[in-house]
Amino acid sequence: MKRRLLLAWGSAAGALALAVVLGRPAWAWLHTLPRSRRVLAFLRAPEAHRAWIIPALTRCDHAPFLFPSSGFVGYLWGDAFHFGHRHQGIDIFSGTAPGVTPVYAAYDGYLTRQPPWKASVIIRHPHDPLHPNRQIWTYYTHMADPEGHSFVAFPPGTREVFVKAGTLLGYQGNYSGNPRRPVGVHLHFSIVLDDGQGHYRNELDIANTLDPSPYLGLPLNAWEVSTSQAPHCP
Ligand SMILES: [Zn+2]
Repeated sequence: MKRRLLLAWGSAAGALALAVVLGRPAWAWLHTLPRSRRVLAFLRAPEAHRAWIIPALTRCDHAPFLFPSSGFVGYLWGDAFHFGHRHQGIDIFSGTAPGVTPVYAAYDGYLTRQPPWKASVIIRHPHDPLHPNRQIWTYYTHMADPEGHSFVAFPPGTREVFVKAGTLLGYQGNYSGNPRRPVGVHLHFSIVLDDGQGHYRNELDIANTLDPSPYLGLPLNAWEVSTSQAPHCP
């Protein structure tokens, strides 16, 4: 028993030492492991983990944004799925089949769906509610089935259509770009910076995105949040 405890401490200390040596990317990666375990547990048995779900259109603690889709926030802003990567948004897992769980606009704005987009929309918000002198964007993706059959409620090529907060945008899906390797059914939601010329920056780089915590009134920053429980309205 003592020996096992010693081994456990040894491997924990080893992991910590490795994280210190390799720096922030390793630390982020280790930090994401408990969340991955929770995501797998949820996807295997969503009914057993209903307490982790935040209902769509919830407004936490006077936050400016509505929660965009019913589900469990499995991955946070800043999580690392592999070395050197950091997640630019949050992943909300519905626990339902693809094409069932609605996705809604988090905030009033102007919606665009670029012609090649199968699973995504982006909404322009001329005034960031927390910094009104700048423009920001909210991005919603994975709204298609593995073959790319779209669940988006707006046709390709839609440009600058005004939508109010709570407008139906589509349905959660499991599209990954590779039909043989679909993702678990979820919505990826992120807040994207403007380039100052009226265009959104590249969403794939976390440096171009914002911590969604103050916008949704939820603890969503992987650097600040304990890994021991699913995020909930305070
Ligand atoms: Zn994501």
